[in-house]
Amino acid sequence: MAARAVRVLKLMCPDCGRGVEFVLDAGTLTAALSSPTGLVGVADYHGDHVFIVYVDTEGRDRGTRVYRTLQKGETLRVNPAYLNYMTHISGFRLLTGGGAVECYRRSPGTALKVYEESSELELELVNLDLAKSAAEWARGYLRGLAKVPTADLSSILLSALLLDSSIGTQPSPFMARLFELAFKSRRLVVRVDAGALALFKEYVNRLPWISPRIVEWAAGLDGWRLVDAVLAQDPITMRERFSGILALERRGIVRFKEVAE
Ligand SMILES: [Zn+2]
Repeated sequence: MAARAVRVLKLMCPDCGRGVEFVLDAGTLTAALSSPTGLVGVADYHGDHVFIVYVDTEGRDRGTRVYRTLQKGETLRVNPAYLNYMTHISGFRLLTGGGAVECYRRSPGTALKVYEESSELELELVNLDLAKSAAEWARGYLRGLAKVPTADLSSILLSALLLDSSIGTQPSPFMARLFELAFKSRRLVVRVDAGALALFKEYVNRLPWISPRIVEWAAGLDGWRLVDAVLAQDPITMRERFSGILALERRGIVRFKEVAE
C-alpha cells in the first residue's frame, strides 16, 4: 500500500528533459520539519545522474539540482518510483559519511541491518528467505563503498540496483571490488587490451562463467566511461555486464583509468 500523497510536484529535469512527478507524503514533510534547514531533498534516479527537488514543510518547491554528492548531516529521500527497478528490496536506508539516503514506499517495515566500516545499510526485503544472502551482499556493498568515500548519489543508487539484482545469487569473493567499480563508475574509463581479448576469445566457449555475448560486448568498450558501458534498461543485464567486466579485469584484458568527472 502506498503512502498517501500530500502533494505532487511535476517538474522537468534540466539535464535530460524528462518529466518527473515527485509524490510527497507526510514522511517527507516531517523530514523537512526536523531538518536544520527546514528543507528536505527528494531525489529521482535518472541512470547517470539524479534530479533533486528541495521542498519545505508545506511541500513547496524551493529549488532543484541535478546530481551531487551527499552532504554531511543531510537526509535525502529518493522518489519511491525508483523501487520499481528492484526485485528483492522493497525499501532501504543507507547511513554513510554523516548523511543518509533512504527510499520507502510506506513507513519502514521489517528490516535487515548491516554494518561495515563506518556505514550502515538497512534493507526491507520482499522475501525474508533471502535474508542471509542479502546480508552478505549488503556487506560487500558497504565494503565497496568504504573504498570510495566520495561516491556520488547516482553511483550510490546504481550500486543499490546492482545489490538488488545480486541478492539471490551466490555471494562472491569479488563482491567488494564489484561494488567499488560501481561506486566509481562515473569516473572510470574502460581500456581494453585488444591482443589479450583476441586470445581470450579463442577459448571463451570452454568457460562456463562468462558468456560469449559479454565478451563480444566488451570488445567495443575501449574508451567508454564505465557508467555508460554498463547502463542497461534492466538491473539483470547491468549486473551481467558488471560481473563480465570484472572477470575480464582479473585476467588483465580490461583495466580502468580514473578521470575527473
Ligand atoms: Zn534527468
